[in-house]
Amino acid sequence: MFIVYGVYHYRPKRIAFRNDYCLSCARPRRSVQIRTFDVCHIFWIPFLPLGFHRRWRCTTCGRLPHVYPGTRRGFKWAGLVVLLVLAIASWVSPPPSDFLIMGWVIRVGASIGAILTLVHLLRTPKNPSLKQRLADIPPASDTVCPFCGSALLMLSSQCCCAACGILRA
Ligand SMILES: [Zn+2]
Ligand SMILES: [Zn+2]
Repeated sequence: MFIVYGVYHYRPKRIAFRNDYCLSCARPRRSVQIRTFDVCHIFWIPFLPLGFHRRWRCTTCGRLPHVYPGTRRGFKWAGLVVLLVLAIASWVSPPPSDFLIMGWVIRVGASIGAILTLVHLLRTPKNPSLKQRLADIPPASDTVCPFCGSALLMLSSQCCCAACGILRA
């Protein structure tokens, strides 16, 4: 049976902002932390409250700033290992006579696949780690709230907006 389920995010509230590095945009961005009250639903009927959750979002693309878009490099290396094992295994054991064509397709396909994956991995430069990139980003130094335009107040080492309560992280 096909079950429709998911999570509703109720009462979104901006609670903080910071200078960040967004992996989807691949450049320094502003991100905002949003708190929602999450409730699990089945067939659009809310049934299980999950409580309050906070998430950072890139203000430009709306995605989670620290989640890699596309296939991660580690998965590509894992794919290379699988293809290599498959290629070696197919060349070591002769293909069964009933599946001669299939055997050759696997031999040639896995070999070419492994070579192409290796070339791709060697040609795409390894990106500097997220940690390094975040270290290069200066902390937010706004004196005015970027969302409502009110002055930010300094409250015991934290800077926050008097009007909307958002925190400068
Ligand atoms: Zn982004
Ligand atoms: Zn504000």
